[in-house]
Amino acid sequence: MDKATTDAGTNGVKSPPRQVFFFDIDNCLYPKSAKVHDLMADLIDRYFVAHLSLPWEEATRLHKEYYQNYGLAIEGLVRHHQIDPLEYNAKVDDALPLDDIIKPRAELRKLLEDIDTIKVKLWLFTNAYVNHGRRVVRLLEIEEFFEGITFCDYAATPLVCKPHPDMFRKAMQEAGVEKNEDCFFVDDSYSNCKQAQELGWATAHLVEDGVKPPRTPASKYQIRHLDELRTAFPQVFKS
Ligand SMILES: [Mg+2]
Repeated sequence: MDKATTDAGTNGVKSPPRQVFFFDIDNCLYPKSAKVHDLMADLIDRYFVAHLSLPWEEATRLHKEYYQNYGLAIEGLVRHHQIDPLEYNAKVDDALPLDDIIKPRAELRKLLEDIDTIKVKLWLFTNAYVNHGRRVVRLLEIEEFFEGITFCDYAATPLVCKPHPDMFRKAMQEAGVEKNEDCFFVDDSYSNCKQAQELGWATAHLVEDGVKPPRTPASKYQIRHLDELRTAFPQVFKS
């Protein structure tokens, strides 16, 4: 992954154009039932308490508000409280005890192996910072399938993250793809999928078993399991 990542942005020029399959990472490449999100939410709440000197209830309320308004708690922290985003990353994402939770999964590996990389380039697309994104795919032992990663650069101002359209444009530029119709996407977030669908990406919203499906689907495809990408997008798999 490293070489392709450093080449990001020039890939489209150097090699013939290929379609790109963008994969969200958290709660997508590993199941929501791993409860990483809950652990993260707890660390974020603690961060709010410690760094904004807030009582617990106010901290959890503000965390929720920023998450809903901006898609990421950190965006609210940067906008309104001038926190150091990389210190936040160290205390939250990098502090997650993932080694005990995220393990390689044979079915995921098989799914990625069956994708025809002559036709499509696999690309990671996350709202996490690069450290966390890389750590997760390393623990899943699927690093080698991806040619690069578009992540939320916590050090940048303004912060750009999904579902903002600029983040989708950034991903396309880094992955070296020009047309929206050449983009495939899977994500567990309703708003991310809704935005991708509006842009014209071929989008599958992952709504795991046990998760209540939305009243209005976010995108053309809604899947219960990543394996259903085989039926949603048969054209990207080896025949
Ligand atoms: Mg996700």
